[in-house]
Amino acid sequence: MKQKQAPLLNLDFWDKDIETLERKKIKELQLENLNYSIERAKKSEFYRERLKNIKKIKSFEDLEKSPFTTKEDLLKNSPFDFITTDLKNIVRVHSSSGTTGRSKYIFHTKKDIEIWADLVARCLYMIGMRKEDIFQNMMSYGLFTGGLGLHYGAEKIGALIIPAGIGNTEKQIELMRELKTTAIHITPSYLLYLAHYIEEIGLSPSEDFNLKIAVVGAEPYSENTRKKLETIFKINVFNCYGLSEMNGPGVAFECPYKDGLHLWEDSYYMEIINPKTNKIVEEGEEGELVLTTLKREGMPLIRYRTGDLTKIIKEKCNCGRTHRRIMRIKGRVDDMFIVKGVNIFPSQIETVIMGFPEVDKNYQIIIDRKQGLDILTIQVEIKKEFFKGEINELRNLQEKIRDELKEKILVTPIVELVGPGTLPTTTGKAKRVIDKRRL
Ligand SMILES: [Zn+2]
Repeated sequence: MKQKQAPLLNLDFWDKDIETLERKKIKELQLENLNYSIERAKKSEFYRERLKNIKKIKSFEDLEKSPFTTKEDLLKNSPFDFITTDLKNIVRVHSSSGTTGRSKYIFHTKKDIEIWADLVARCLYMIGMRKEDIFQNMMSYGLFTGGLGLHYGAEKIGALIIPAGIGNTEKQIELMRELKTTAIHITPSYLLYLAHYIEEIGLSPSEDFNLKIAVVGAEPYSENTRKKLETIFKINVFNCYGLSEMNGPGVAFECPYKDGLHLWEDSYYMEIINPKTNKIVEEGEEGELVLTTLKREGMPLIRYRTGDLTKIIKEKCNCGRTHRRIMRIKGRVDDMFIVKGVNIFPSQIETVIMGFPEVDKNYQIIIDRKQGLDILTIQVEIKKEFFKGEINELRNLQEKIRDELKEKILVTPIVELVGPGTLPTTTGKAKRVIDKRRL
């Protein structure tokens, strides 16, 4: 079979007027919609008191007078306290995934669902998806927004959707082969596992499939992992950002230039704050992303603290879109762990280890405490051909990984090299960090 090339992408727009709107006009639109959103929010039990002193907003600085909304606010109050309309106008509820204990519920009117689908369509069209595409959605369909969110966006474009859902790798591969899937939506860790599985059954990820696009999201991953996935499958892999509190997928998305994610500023107003002082940082500085919905009817959220760390990319993007970009999410404020007093994000570790060509597709971070001392162990799967090699070569590799990690994270870890396919995998969000100090 001929060597497959990653296709060139069509730099076209779903909604050119909005996507390329002048900055000045975007700001005017945002101010108008902020006032709409605040007035709308005041109709809810939760915001009525909190926003009662907020009058018409004339500048973005005026917004800083309104308090933040936090995850705890959503968890502590009755979910119905956030609704701004009669319950009969609400047509769907989603809830947050992956957390233990109580859930956060988000309510949508019919119009909210339509606007959300249109935003997702805008994202998918941007990365080259068209009605000719066959889109296999390997995300969980249900309360989690990744399944239905992408589904309705792809349907709006007119693509043929395979609502495969999560898991059952054998079936996923069968569907991809039989139906000639061209685009997929998947977690990056599962896509790595899929590559491993495909090779194990004697097929080639790049030659035996019709894939050209993968949308990945729902968990942070590094640029090196993206490059690895693109090389293995010979496809374009795009980063997608969203959270159920802000609808779900479709908040921000990479364009074909893959240099940061355009955050749709006609639908969301973004602020980046220092999570410790709660003050807005300079544009381009790193901090926590705070978002206000600008169009949502059923359940507007004002200054919602996402817990995600990123920064705004100030420069204009070559694709012509005027909506500002954010950097790929560095991690969640809650994902950060502290070892020997040093703050570490799993993404920093992933960036280092996925940069080694010998490293296969999976890894795990284990933190333990013995005799009062923190011990950081990183288990790394090594490709078959390297794993069978000389013990001295393996030892050299182990030392190289350890030294580079030490340089980047300032803590010396224990590095364990293991064979391919030996670490536990999951078809959903990967659990990369096991903190035994908390067990
Ligand atoms: Zn762009």
